[in-house]
Amino acid sequence: MKLLVPTNWDPDLILPLSKLEADVQLYGVLPTSMIGSGGSGPDNVRMVENQAEEYIEQAHSAGLKFDYLLNAPSMGNMEWDENTHQELLMHLDWISSVGADSVTVTIPYLVELIKRQFPHLKIRVSTIAHVNSVARAKSVESLGADSITLDINVNRDFTLLKAIRKAVSCELTVLMNNLCLYQCPYEYYHHDGLGHASQSYNSLSGYYVDYCVIRCSLDRLCDISQIIKCRWVRPEDIHVYEEIGMDMFKISGRSMSAERILQAATAYSSRHYQGNLYDILNIITPKIGFINSALPGVQNNVIEPPPKFYIDNQALEGFMDFFGKQDCLSGCSQCNYCQRIANKVIQFDRNEVDEYIAVLNASLDKLSSSRMFKVKAGVKKHLH
Ligand code: SF4
Ligand code: SF4
Repeated sequence: MKLLVPTNWDPDLILPLSKLEADVQLYGVLPTSMIGSGGSGPDNVRMVENQAEEYIEQAHSAGLKFDYLLNAPSMGNMEWDENTHQELLMHLDWISSVGADSVTVTIPYLVELIKRQFPHLKIRVSTIAHVNSVARAKSVESLGADSITLDINVNRDFTLLKAIRKAVSCELTVLMNNLCLYQCPYEYYHHDGLGHASQSYNSLSGYYVDYCVIRCSLDRLCDISQIIKCRWVRPEDIHVYEEIGMDMFKISGRSMSAERILQAATAYSSRHYQGNLYDILNIITPKIGFINSALPGVQNNVIEPPPKFYIDNQALEGFMDFFGKQDCLSGCSQCNYCQRIANKVIQFDRNEVDEYIAVLNASLDKLSSSRMFKVKAGVKKHLH
């Protein structure tokens, strides 16, 4: 099994990952970079380029390949500025020189540029590119993608997955442990915000407000069936994807602790997890502050992590069979399958959840009323 595992740059991850029964490859990115990334990274990492170089060398010595993330959804047109373009090429030179084996990209232009000027780098197209149809998969492959991480929303659409497999010959990767809402309405805005905040030329130096995560956390907590609707895949169900020709399995969670990353990688590589599925899912905590809290003197306002749920993984045996015949994209208002499963397999502390909902609502109130910002006196009359 090919397993793509996130790194938070903790050197203690390398040896245990190299011993798993899988062909493990690591992926990661510095907190801020030329192209930026589209996901949350570790909160307090202080990596700089030469440390990353050393880390990639250590990974290689342990037999692990390294994928460097370049997957922000947009560079805000800075790729067309002569000076920034020059820096972009220098950044790609650096990625090549430190021995990265592949890069994960969202911007189509970068696929073509890298293919032409850095042909030794394998190109993975990010899940953020939303490859969710045969037509899109074929186009992305023809641009030069060697590998496509499919849009997580199609994870349980087996008719589509089989059709995409038939249509392209490149490597296909499935994201496994993501707790993003099914058809998340904040997704594009969220990736765009993270992408810009993680770019080295960002005009706010990476300042960022996690409105999207406050919102999606509220949606999940106010309707527990959303936790089941999320398109995660249990370790026990990997074989379903192998049988239809999926090549690689990706674990998300660069912001997770090394312990949790290892726990997830061990579960997926052994195709089995006994106990609480929630412990290997990628849980995101909302944050208001700078994306790179390694900057000297920077204080981030991180809201407490969400309350813990218990998801009985063993009680989910056979859960995936339903999706073989269900069209979730059009059928979700007449179907209560996920609600029934949630009632059966999820346990949580109602009071704790209600308290957390109140905290999130208070944060949201500050944002939607603009109270969080110092606004001019004349504008204040609009605030309620
Ligand atoms: S579910 Fe939350 S973390 Fe996932 S894309 Fe939506 S807003 Fe972002
Ligand atoms: S259509 Fe049914 S199975 Fe699919 S996400 Fe909605 S409730 Fe769940």
